[in-house]
Amino acid sequence: MYISTRGGTSPVSASAAIYKGIAADGGLFVPEEIQPFPEELWDALPEMSYRTLAKTIFSLYLDDFSEEEIDRVVGGAYGGQFDDEEIAPIHTLSGNRHILELWHGPTAAFKDMALQALPYLLTISMEKQAGAKEVVILVATSGDTGKAALEGFADVPKTKIIVFYPNGGVSAIQRLQMATQTGDNTFVVALNGNFDDCQRGVKEIFADAAFNAALDERGYRLSSANSINWGRLLPQIVYYFKAYAALRRDGIVAAGETIDVVVPTGNFGNILAACYAREMGLPIRALLCASNKNKVLTDVLNDGRYDKRREFYRTSSPSMDILVSSNFERFVFEVCGHDAETVKRLFAALDSEGHYQLPEAALARIKTFMAGEYASEEETLAAIGETERSDGYILDPHTAVAVKALAKYDAAHDRGGKAAVIDATANPFKFNKAVYEGIFGEGSAEGMDEFIVSKELSAKTGMAIHRGLVDLDKKPVLHTKVAEKDEMKAVVAEILK
Ligand SMILES: *Cc1c(COP(=O)(O)O)cnc(C)c1O
Repeated sequence: MYISTRGGTSPVSASAAIYKGIAADGGLFVPEEIQPFPEELWDALPEMSYRTLAKTIFSLYLDDFSEEEIDRVVGGAYGGQFDDEEIAPIHTLSGNRHILELWHGPTAAFKDMALQALPYLLTISMEKQAGAKEVVILVATSGDTGKAALEGFADVPKTKIIVFYPNGGVSAIQRLQMATQTGDNTFVVALNGNFDDCQRGVKEIFADAAFNAALDERGYRLSSANSINWGRLLPQIVYYFKAYAALRRDGIVAAGETIDVVVPTGNFGNILAACYAREMGLPIRALLCASNKNKVLTDVLNDGRYDKRREFYRTSSPSMDILVSSNFERFVFEVCGHDAETVKRLFAALDSEGHYQLPEAALARIKTFMAGEYASEEETLAAIGETERSDGYILDPHTAVAVKALAKYDAAHDRGGKAAVIDATANPFKFNKAVYEGIFGEGSAEGMDEFIVSKELSAKTGMAIHRGLVDLDKKPVLHTKVAEKDEMKAVVAEILK
């Protein structure tokens, strides 16, 4: 069963947690207990396929889904829309570093790993709720979630999806990926503000009781495709098991041998899934939380002080340009030993004062298995060039943040040569300008159209442009709406008439 991080709701089933998205007390749904990976399956793990692993892990957490329903989710989500049999293949670099490529789905970012499954999880969850309404998915995106959610939900019956992205805060490719989205149930809005404004606005709409009651009367119910939804997090646990399975299968680690995991982090969903995998018994020794110049997480992991009152930077890794990481609340709930009162107090303080201090004991606990490190803009671009030269491998800027963070961590600590799995969260062509300049020098892509950059990058490196990004500039633009920060609710009302 699922409980709220703020302790104000009674336990609900998986389908209710997924259908509701966020708990009524403003908290996030978390499993009452983390389920161990079945003892008898460890020996078989190295040979398990992605789909088998997904079924195994889903059935541990989807208490009120039948086997047939879980088959439907997994079969629908992890098929031919991924261009690699492994779904999340590993590419090994020098120095016992292993890149876990999470960008083989249709939209070229790791969000597909969960957002190909979420529409199935959500529609099956809807069927289980008495008097279920048409679901309206509200999404705040820093660029990648929006497209992945649109792609997942396009033309899914009894759903509508409305995406808000920061106007000018996403790349031309990201913007076009969303603006060219087909599907009668899809709506895309450029908001004059940054990602935190989008996220705050969406949260306010969810929390507006009168507005939700009015929607209810018209047969609508709001839900979330952001990683605050448990249905987003659960699918992300799977690929950590897959990564470990591949390292075991390929003889890189022995049975039971621990690995380290490095995650380029924004909203803290991806790394949280790794924490759950670790809690389930996956032999992960430590996690490195990698941030860009917006290093609010590096700071809190170092000294326990979360402080969002700081300058916001737009970086070359825009999907990590975040000052309020939603899923950190779930993490705090875990490291505070499920103490909902403390979570409530800390996150109320974050809302009203903009900062909080983690309890001493929680910070000490965090430090036993997690560290934070960051990479500046210069370091990130340099890491792209260096990795291309040393390993002939092309990193996107988000992944480059993680590679650089690991290098910085290694310069100051001895990890004893342990294998490190580094999440690659985007295909390089999704952020081609930064990649191009990382490899060919600062200013080398200046004045070049992003689509020319893609072609040049492909021609010069021999890497094929991701299929989801080819000829985007030739597709018709179907969404052009722009809104102000204080208009979000009105926009939703207008779309739903
Ligand atoms: C969303 C995203 C991230 C951050 O992931 P979180 O789960 O929000 O921490 C990192 N890189 C890319 C490319 C992303 O799309």
